[in-house]
Amino acid sequence: MANQELTASPTDSETPTLQQLNILTLFPEAVQAYFNIGVTGRAVERSVIDIHCVNFRDYAQGNYKAVDDLPFGGGAGMVIQAEPVAKAIDDLPLSGRQRGTVVLLAPTGKVFTQRDAERLSQSEAITFVCGRYEGIDARLNIEYVNEVFSIGDYILSGGELAAMVIIDAIARLKPGVLNNSESATHESHSLGGDQLLEHPHYTRPATWRGHEVPPVLLSGHHKRIQTWRREESIKATARVRPELLENIDLSPAERSLIERLRRGE
Ligand code: SAM
Repeated sequence: MANQELTASPTDSETPTLQQLNILTLFPEAVQAYFNIGVTGRAVERSVIDIHCVNFRDYAQGNYKAVDDLPFGGGAGMVIQAEPVAKAIDDLPLSGRQRGTVVLLAPTGKVFTQRDAERLSQSEAITFVCGRYEGIDARLNIEYVNEVFSIGDYILSGGELAAMVIIDAIARLKPGVLNNSESATHESHSLGGDQLLEHPHYTRPATWRGHEVPPVLLSGHHKRIQTWRREESIKATARVRPELLENIDLSPAERSLIERLRRGE
């Protein structure tokens, strides 16, 4: 699979328009490295996404270029001031960049999902703002921020990993980045995969450490394989993420499969 992806190239009809992605961070060198490798690296190389990292410390005042200060009202930690971040955003057009949708990464945001990845993959430009310390002065949100995203219910030390997670999810949806457009549409959580978790995968050898591949996968019978995969998807979703099944269109037979699973049959 990895080799196939490496040899892929977009067809003319699939050539996407360049999406501008600006990342405002105190650690641009750490972020930049991720766009030299793998799927995200290929998206850059093929001019599908254009990554522009900005260190907003460059917009701070004073000899020490401090961007943080004590929180009003007291308490632990430091807060990033709004002004250097605001100036970095304002400066984007001067360096020939579109600002587009401004996305703040914060644990207080809406949890990012595949639906958000699909929607954001259609934007012409996105500016990601990565917090550090206790976060950024909340007044930045009023003036600049269009959406706030969390990548999950836990605390990271900075927004950089969250921005990279979101950009990775977006980039792989763009035409010409993966070798086979099917592979992006039939994955777990995708609409093409009916928003179910994906079925398990197997490759050679057919017997590994005494474990056999499910025989149906060796049958060459396409219809039976499809049915088996669909059932395995439903079983995996019912076992690990039962709440996802509530919004999914299932046949009566599939509903009764879930009932049997719930009864432990
Ligand atoms: N004091 C903040 C709170 O309790 O909500 C946490 C600040 S965290 C240590 C520093 C930065 O990491 C945040 O400003 C944000 O940019 C980023 N961050 C941390 N967890 C995140 C998450 N789950 N999703 C997105 N960004 C996160």
